[in-house]
Amino acid sequence: ALTAGIVGLPNVGKSTLFNAITKAGAEAANYPFCTIDPNVGIVEVPDERLDKLTELVTPKKTVPTAFEFTDIAGIVEGASKGEGLGNKFLSHIREVDAICQVVRCFVDENITHVAGKVNPINDIEIINLELILADMESVEKRLARVVKMVKQKEKEAMIEEPILIKLKEAFEDERPARSIDFTEDELKIANGMNLLTIKPMLYVANVAEDEIADTDENELVQQVRDFAKIDNAQVIVVCAKIEEEMAELDDEDKKMFLEELGIKESGLDQLIKATYSLLGFATYFTAGVQEVRAWTFRKGMKAPQCAAIIHTDFERGFIRAETVAYDDLVEAGSMTAAKEAGKVRLEGKEYIVKDGDVLLFRFNV
Ligand code: GDP
Repeated sequence: ALTAGIVGLPNVGKSTLFNAITKAGAEAANYPFCTIDPNVGIVEVPDERLDKLTELVTPKKTVPTAFEFTDIAGIVEGASKGEGLGNKFLSHIREVDAICQVVRCFVDENITHVAGKVNPINDIEIINLELILADMESVEKRLARVVKMVKQKEKEAMIEEPILIKLKEAFEDERPARSIDFTEDELKIANGMNLLTIKPMLYVANVAEDEIADTDENELVQQVRDFAKIDNAQVIVVCAKIEEEMAELDDEDKKMFLEELGIKESGLDQLIKATYSLLGFATYFTAGVQEVRAWTFRKGMKAPQCAAIIHTDFERGFIRAETVAYDDLVEAGSMTAAKEAGKVRLEGKEYIVKDGDVLLFRFNV
């Protein structure tokens, strides 16, 4: 399953945020393919379109799509040298598809900061440097071999060498691989190197309870935003403590709570949505009378691959996909009306599924 890893220095609010995630609790029975592990939390992806489709179709059941967050504890300075839980920590990060780095932007005298003072940029740099050093080691090892292969005039090595050099130069400047302007072809190769710093990064700025309503004035948050720009990362602002409290409320109470706080959307929902798009995910829907359901696919996937997400047999026997765009369906008001308006297309094996497509797969068994 696809997963985003939560990392951060000690005492920045990781556990609090992770608690909020598990408490918000997805209906695990709906997601038999997800991991059962105390360090993994399944989150449902909030999507207003799913609510609208439910209104239109009035199915027996509605199932949102979901993905996983993994709590990766244990970063320390020197992790790349194998100190503390360092090595284990880095190997866990290697397995995730995106990284959410929690950064402390709340000042609280009672809660010790590992570096003695709240300084988000300093914190980020500690973690990022460990990741960069680990990548530097892999790249240098690889480069030593590739240089020899280039001497033998091996074609692939000749393509790989300049990419490795670009990476090495970036690491020497303490820049992550994701900040490098690769060509599309280079990026494909770099993506195959299993680097830590090429993974998409999202900074989760954790602010105090009384600061969540207005974060424009928050200097620490601004520092994180400026940093993220150069770093080619995104920023989400949350108050982990509030999220933890809110996770236990039902939808109505949650709405009231948010209104009182003067915010539109919970930090957790923002985090889920941002991570989802950061991972390059999109959503298609199936809308039957039994079940209306959202499914996650990767942008660029074709119809048969998307069918396989529901069931592997669907791909083998794929004939076609009856397809209607979400907006067209809503405008028409019902599937029948959409058909009459000529908005339902028959798409074949080569069709690249779009975000918001409502699909009905036809297949041979
Ligand atoms: P971790 O070590 O990164 O997992 O951090 P924790 O989640 O255990 O949080 C460390 C301490 O900071 C705990 O006492 C939390 O209650 C507190 N904390 C976490 N988030 C917030 C927050 O948003 N506001 C305040 N005031 N305290 C927080």
